[in-house]
Amino acid sequence: MPDFDPTCLFCRIAVGEIPSDTVLATDEVVVFRDVNPRAPTHLLAIPRRHIPSVAEVTDADAALLSALFAALRTAAGQAGLPGYRIVSNVGPEAGQSVFHLHFHLLGGRPMEWPPG
Ligand code: AMP
Repeated sequence: MPDFDPTCLFCRIAVGEIPSDTVLATDEVVVFRDVNPRAPTHLLAIPRRHIPSVAEVTDADAALLSALFAALRTAAGQAGLPGYRIVSNVGPEAGQSVFHLHFHLLGGRPMEWPPG
């Protein structure tokens, strides 16, 4: 799988071809605001490298996953969230619409359970 897919929206956001409201960026990870927020704070954490979803993550991606969760923790702290939800939709049946691995970070309002 190539590291960069020119047809992938989030690959293009990762390299700055498509603008985003970025809150945190490292060599491996970018965190930016969702354009259609479902909570007062709604961020997306993505790897720069193209991985379609959690279903394609392998053991070789352990350090990358650690970096993604570190970025999520940092972004939640910067947003001052006392609690938050992290979600990753896998496949269209689960609501995935962009096929580049991403974790939603939602906070700033009470969360219901189970999610719809
Ligand atoms: P999912 O449906 O789980 O694949 O999540 C994809 C998310 O990407 C949705 O919540 C969209 O609102 C968000 N999104 C789509 N295009 C953009 C964009 N250009 N910038 C920021 N967020 C986006």
